[in-house]
Amino acid sequence: MIPGAFAYHRPKSLAEAVGLLADLGEDARPLAGGHSLIPMMKLRLAAPEHLVDLRAIGDLKGIRSEGGDIVIGAMTTQHEVIGSELLAGKLPILRETSLSIADPQVRYVGTLGGNVANGDPGNDMPAVMLCLGATYHLAGKGGERRVAAREFYQGAYFTALEAGEILTAIRIPVPPAGHGHAYEKLKRKIGDYATAAAAVVLTLSGGKIASCAIALTNVGETPLFAEAAAKLLVGSALEPAIVKQAVAAAEAITAPASDNRGPAAYRRKMAGVMTARALAAAKARAS
Ligand SMILES: Cc1cc2nc3c(=O)[nH]c(=O)nc-3n(C[C@H](O)[C@H](O)[C@H](O)COP(=O)(O)OP(=O)(O)OC[C@H]3O[C@@H](n4cnc5c(N)ncnc54)[C@H](O)[C@@H]3O)c2cc1C
Repeated sequence: MIPGAFAYHRPKSLAEAVGLLADLGEDARPLAGGHSLIPMMKLRLAAPEHLVDLRAIGDLKGIRSEGGDIVIGAMTTQHEVIGSELLAGKLPILRETSLSIADPQVRYVGTLGGNVANGDPGNDMPAVMLCLGATYHLAGKGGERRVAAREFYQGAYFTALEAGEILTAIRIPVPPAGHGHAYEKLKRKIGDYATAAAAVVLTLSGGKIASCAIALTNVGETPLFAEAAAKLLVGSALEPAIVKQAVAAAEAITAPASDNRGPAAYRRKMAGVMTARALAAAKARAS
């Protein structure tokens, strides 16, 4: 399919991009890697009249340590996330999750910012950001503001981003050294979106769970933060009976659609299976 006609803009600075989006109004959209937006335009599910390409803005790239946080520029590609030594040491779940996304061709171009700003419940990174307690930096004509990832997702393709706002960076508090982590994703084939997936980040103390966060991908209109399920596990050693209760609590917050990845009941059950697998893998990795 061929997309509708659009004008292309390539600002060189964040200020120029914010100004362009403010001037062009609701018919303009930021363009990052284009690996969600361009297919949507080709299917005529999106028809922006102006694309504001963010790729020439150097300030939106890069990965750095800042105090106890890691700050990742929105235009950092999935490929760059995979290759980062800093992330491999401090936030290894990002590499694991990036490797589960699409294929190398998509990851060379698709950005972390595009993945989390897109609002597609099938995107893998948002659940991981909920788990990690990430904060998104947003810039618009009214200035800059920060929104917690846990408050960002409001519905399918509906986020806290206001018209004309640009996600500039993702700030993630570094979990304690020795934390356990896992992203377990069930997909039909390489390159597919999740039938269901679960992210887990936990810490152990004396063999017991000291802290735990669980979030789910593609089993609801938004990524789901399974807070009640995670709370059940604190103080346990992941004994089978308590894991069963936590899995039931995680399944209970899902509302998957029946689609070509399977009926809703199956996808809900798979969210539970991915949760149990991610908990076991995270515990095995924790020290
Ligand atoms: C074959 C294929 C398989 C895929 N499989 C997966 C998968 O398994 N898991 C997965 O998570 N993704 C998958 N994707 C999607 C891919 O990860 C996209 O790259 C990602 O969803 C969007 O990132 P992007 O940089 O391409 O953003 P774009 O497509 O350019 O933008 C996506 C949306 O976000 C907005 N946006 C982008 N950046 C910003 C910003 N900085 N500030 C404000 N708004 C912004 C755009 O306006 C647009 O609405 C797949 C894509 C393809 C083509």
